Amino acid sequence: GARDRRWRLVAATGGDMRVVTLHDRTENAAAERMRVDFVANASHELRTPLASIIGYAETLADEAGDDPDLRRRFLRIVGDEARRMQRLVEDLLSLSRIEADKFRVPDQPIDLGRLIDEVCAELVATGNPRSGDLDCVVPGELPAIVGDRAQLSQLLHNLVGNAMKYGRAGTPVTVAAERRGSAVRLTVTDRGEGIAPEHLPRLTERFYRVDAGRSRTLGGTGLGLAICKHIVERHRARMEVQSVPSTGTTVAVTLPAASPPAAPAQAAVIKG
Ligand code: ADP
Repeated sequence: GARDRRWRLVAATGGDMRVVTLHDRTENAAAERMRVDFVANASHELRTPLASIIGYAETLADEAGDDPDLRRRFLRIVGDEARRMQRLVEDLLSLSRIEADKFRVPDQPIDLGRLIDEVCAELVATGNPRSGDLDCVVPGELPAIVGDRAQLSQLLHNLVGNAMKYGRAGTPVTVAAERRGSAVRLTVTDRGEGIAPEHLPRLTERFYRVDAGRSRTLGGTGLGLAICKHIVERHRARMEVQSVPSTGTTVAVTLPAASPPAAPAQAAVIKG
């Protein structure tokens, strides 16, 4: 944009080397730092599976291609790594789309109960490897909310997906919604490993993971909660994470309800 940038020239001499630094004082240093870290992290996350794909492809082209068992095994790894890159690219695209939409107020009337049912059915149908029930507790008379359907669906996918990933096998995950004054409160609860308190404030940072190895094994990108945070902000909602290590985690999202239709005027009959 036509933002006014002011540059300050700082010259320093060190030995016979001359260093000239340009400071953009209008740029928020912390935001810039985050952007640089983000690009570095994203590149690194993409480079790892890519290196593995290239390595296995080359081995297949040479000796391993002759052994049918080895060939199958290596091709499966190539497929897994490519899917990991695909998930990452999809999440990066989601994040940038949501950020670009930041100033457009979401305006679709949404039946959250129905959306919860849809997302839970999808997650069960896509054959998540986890065993355990997925319980949905939604009252019939939940007020409608106003939002962006696709984004709220993604929010639910990410939160319920995490609860299924990090919940203990054989224990249920509970998705509930209830009215709270002029808001609707959505909660997703698992009985899993939980999160130590020192990690809680950083969970929504892009690529922040408590256990990176475990997240990768479970197919995580480290972007799920960052995406949720952006969706929550765009919906003027609030997200809280409560967790007890080795017991479980509850993520609560409070969304403003749609303003109810004006109550029909009551005809008062005054008898004199
Ligand atoms: P990921 O793709 O790694 O799951 P997220 O952004 O969704 O990324 O979550 C960030 C990190 O927060 C995860 O790597 C995990 O360590 C932790 N986390 C998120 N949800 C839960 C949960 N329900 N139980 C335990 N840990 C969780």
